[in-house]
Amino acid sequence: MTDVQTRCAASRNLLLASLPPDDYAVLRPMLEIVALQPQGVLHNPGEASKYVYFPRSGFMSVAVALRDGSMVEVAPIGREGLAGIPATGPALTAMTNALIVVHGEDDCAYRMRIEDFRHEMDKCGAFADVVNHYGEAFLGVVMQNTCCNAAHSVEQRMAKWLLMAQDRLETPRFRITQEFLATLLGATRQTVTGVASALHKNQLIDYTRGQLEILDRRGLEAASCECYQVSLQLLQRVATSHYTAPAR
Ligand SMILES: [Zn+2]
Repeated sequence: MTDVQTRCAASRNLLLASLPPDDYAVLRPMLEIVALQPQGVLHNPGEASKYVYFPRSGFMSVAVALRDGSMVEVAPIGREGLAGIPATGPALTAMTNALIVVHGEDDCAYRMRIEDFRHEMDKCGAFADVVNHYGEAFLGVVMQNTCCNAAHSVEQRMAKWLLMAQDRLETPRFRITQEFLATLLGATRQTVTGVASALHKNQLIDYTRGQLEILDRRGLEAASCECYQVSLQLLQRVATSHYTAPAR
């Protein structure tokens, strides 16, 4: 085994984990383990897609870039999902950016060639059912985020984002710069600095030199909008027995 394969041995993608063993055995030879690079880009809009990614750890964002160079997150992806769904249509090109937002030292994903993915989807078996079910939930998360970006405050959205990050990273401590967080939230660096200070003052988070720690998860849930719970419930329907928020 390579170093990446060894480090990834203990992690898993929840969509793949929900498959019947026989179906997973058919897929396994088509899945290649790859390391996730910090703030890497899996694909850009308009690019021909070669792979679909099933994260086993880490936190990715699907983001839309605007003409002025700014970028806003439209949905998060972690081990509960897959990256590349928009690229599986007839055009076979990506419609959005897929970014690796936060990662630990051992984060990795399974990747599958797009040709293999389409072939397995055409079988209309358990794999297609799981992917289609996830696609429906993912669309729901995107729609919820659209509403959230228009209707809820930066403080609520930042609290939601931090909760989602903790769920996927399975740790309350991770590194994220304020510049990058501002980019994802579609806010200015100054706004994010102010919100982070308020959350710190209320003892919900600690945030020093890019190292963030969630101190009070229950308090952060209270500071978030309803979109966190709505999105969580949408995704839990796909892998009910596997994807749960960490205990408070
Ligand atoms: Zn919201």
